[in-house]
Amino acid sequence: MTPQDRFYRIVESGLCIGCGLCQSVAGKDTIRMEKAESGELRPRVLGALTEERVDMIYETCPGTRAEGLPEALSSQAPEFDPVWGPYHRLVLAWAGEPQIRHEGSAGGVLTALGRYLLNSRRVAFVLHVKASAAEPSFGERTLSFTEAEVLEGAGSRYGPTAPLIDFDDVLAREEPFALIAKPCDLNAVRNLAHRDPRVDALVRYWLSPVCGGYMPTEAMHRFMHDNRIDPSNVAALRYRGLGCPGPTTFRMRDSEERSFHYLDFWGEDESAWSLPFRCKICPDGIGDGADIAAADIWPGAAPDRKGSETDPGFNSIIVRTAAGTELVEAAVAAGYLAIGEDVGPDFMNDTQPHQVKKKLAAGARLDAIAQSGRPRLKTVGLRIDELADLNGDANNRTQAEGTARRLREGQGREKRPFQR
Ligand SMILES: Cc1cc2nc3c(=O)[nH]c(=O)nc-3n(C[C@H](O)[C@H](O)[C@H](O)COP(=O)(O)OP(=O)(O)OC[C@H]3O[C@@H](n4cnc5c(N)ncnc54)[C@H](O)[C@@H]3O)c2cc1C
Ligand code: SF4
Ligand code: SF4
Repeated sequence: MTPQDRFYRIVESGLCIGCGLCQSVAGKDTIRMEKAESGELRPRVLGALTEERVDMIYETCPGTRAEGLPEALSSQAPEFDPVWGPYHRLVLAWAGEPQIRHEGSAGGVLTALGRYLLNSRRVAFVLHVKASAAEPSFGERTLSFTEAEVLEGAGSRYGPTAPLIDFDDVLAREEPFALIAKPCDLNAVRNLAHRDPRVDALVRYWLSPVCGGYMPTEAMHRFMHDNRIDPSNVAALRYRGLGCPGPTTFRMRDSEERSFHYLDFWGEDESAWSLPFRCKICPDGIGDGADIAAADIWPGAAPDRKGSETDPGFNSIIVRTAAGTELVEAAVAAGYLAIGEDVGPDFMNDTQPHQVKKKLAAGARLDAIAQSGRPRLKTVGLRIDELADLNGDANNRTQAEGTARRLREGQGREKRPFQR
């Protein structure tokens, strides 16, 4: 197998989530993230790949390796739950400034923390995501140097997003920064920390949304087709925010707007969600690698149909480290953040039932994938073996058989995205 074939096996096995780190690791003249025929962001090999470079990609790609908190940090956490992991505090929170709370996805916590980190000069910039200018349904990596720029990125982007495409250039700036990105993006950067000492020196704060997966382009096009929206006529798309969760709004080129309720966009219950294969088998949707992970707080993970735009917005936050604890306290003291009652793992289980199921099932699902001859997604610090034991033999068998059947039916297989 050539190095190029070995690299493309990650994508062909349905393990690529399109984070872009391989472009950064190999250099943009060798690998470049592009929109594939499927509509997803995928790596295209442009130059010669060596075995060593592909080894490094396998060690850092979140499709082949996913790591949570380093042991030195997780061992300091005073609390532990098998599903929710090590933590210092589980607490309700929202942005201290009403405008930020309103514009944010839920309570605006991640935006508020990013803004506070800049205001207090703890970091020089924030690496996060905003709406893509070229592809309205996509996210695009951005560096924010001002509080106003952080606010421009508020709101979840539920489309393909590659925040790590030029992570090496970001490190080369030699300035401390905060990273706000999905749990799998953080897994990738935690992987990279073993190969590049600049990561631990410069990434001062690791912040993440809790993440159930994004909407593949094919499903987005189906939604637009069903609602008579011409994709080529869409100028901008806001998925959430301006309320909690707020409307999903398509703005057309002639400025007409079409808005939908979150439940009409995603479906009434989680079983209707259209997700990429990698998200269905995700071993870390809960931000195990973050100092602070922010989640929604709707019972059963479904918002109230009536309250979408009037709900002032709340997050639950999982504070996993001492740095996260100190940041919350300082942001509250400065008025950037407000906190409410402490909650516990039962509250998280009730508001994130899909995360609990996925975490328990991940071990059996990943085993079934490896047994099918695909690369094994190695997990570190995510408690996947312990959770599989907790899940029990009978449940694990059901999960493994279900995954094996789905693989036979063609899921978890992607066409090579680009032929040179
Ligand atoms: C793909 C996806 C799936 C999600 N699934 C769940 C779930 O299952 N359960 C749950 O409780 N919450 C989920 N969320 C999180 C939820 O939607 C809120 O984003 C989260 O609670 C943070 O709220 P906030 O008000 O603090 O966010 P905001 O203050 O609006 O800040 C959001 C921050 O996240 C960054 N961001 C947005 N989209 C992306 C992206 N695609 N990749 C990287 N960074 C991004 C933005 O740049 C911004 O800095 C998901 C979010 C995303 C992006
Ligand atoms: S998951 Fe990220 S690093 Fe892995 S192949 Fe896809 S884009 Fe590259
Ligand atoms: S579900 Fe997991 S793999 Fe999918 S986008 Fe979220 S963190 Fe990444």
